[in-house]
Amino acid sequence: MGKTLIILKPDAIQRRLLGKLISRFEEKGFQIIGLKMIQISDALARKHYAIHEGKDFFEPLIRYMTSSPVIVMILKGKNVVEIARKMMGFAFGSKAEAGTIRGDYAVSNRFNLIHGSDSPASAEKEISIFFKKEELFEYNPTDLQWIYDMSTGDIV
Ligand code: ATP
Ligand code: MG
Repeated sequence: MGKTLIILKPDAIQRRLLGKLISRFEEKGFQIIGLKMIQISDALARKHYAIHEGKDFFEPLIRYMTSSPVIVMILKGKNVVEIARKMMGFAFGSKAEAGTIRGDYAVSNRFNLIHGSDSPASAEKEISIFFKKEELFEYNPTDLQWIYDMSTGDIV
């Protein structure tokens, strides 16, 4: 089982899309093991998107991410990093495929509603930046046996 960090960005809150976006991941079968509302500081936004420093969209991206509160959440599931990215769709709302979150709810190339870690390694790093240990909840979902076939000893 893997974990990923999701951020429901300022536009997701302002556009009252939180319920719909969280539902997509719940309905897919992922387990939410951490969730909170925070105001991202300028320093935290710069740290989170450090890889994009110096690019022409960097400063507007920092302003966007700090413009209003966000929801941060941790999802758990098999291959969750890859599957969640697929569910989010291409970065640009204008190009994202219909059926994806960005494809269904975003038209902007910056205001694209959601962030998801792009690899298990960045997920681990991002989770440690945004969450304290005691904010992660390792509980047994009662329906797990119907989300995956675990009867063979593997998670299928
Ligand atoms: P995220 O990291 O937020 O999950 P992503 O991995 O799909 O998104 P990145 O290339 O990492 O895409 O870009 C980070 C964010 O910067 C994008 O989600 C978007 O908000 C913004 N962004 C990226 N490219 C552009 C661009 N050319 N013009 C405007 N904004 C951009
Ligand atoms: Mg990215």
